Amino acid sequence: MTSLNKNLKTCSKGHKFYKNSDCPTCPICEKERKPENGFLALLSAPARRALESNHIVSLQQLSKYSEKEILKFHGIGPSSLPKLKAALEEEGLSFRD
Ligand SMILES: [Zn+2]
Repeated sequence: MTSLNKNLKTCSKGHKFYKNSDCPTCPICEKERKPENGFLALLSAPARRALESNHIVSLQQLSKYSEKEILKFHGIGPSSLPKLKAALEEEGLSFRD
């Protein structure tokens, strides 16, 4: 019967965290949800491999390339581009050119 743990919450992944408000957002999950290379998860496996084999694992690195250069990578199809563009825009970035 201690009041110490009244704000200790456990998220669905088992992270324990303290929160004062009713907001159930887990700060650990929050961080994990926004990894720099999260955009890779949006892509098909061949497209992801294409970027990784060109050492593009972050949006910052991706923004150093133009659309044309990206399309030249083996495995990247035109359907990958809108996803990449959207991911870049979310971070305030864009393709070169
Ligand atoms: Zn969590």
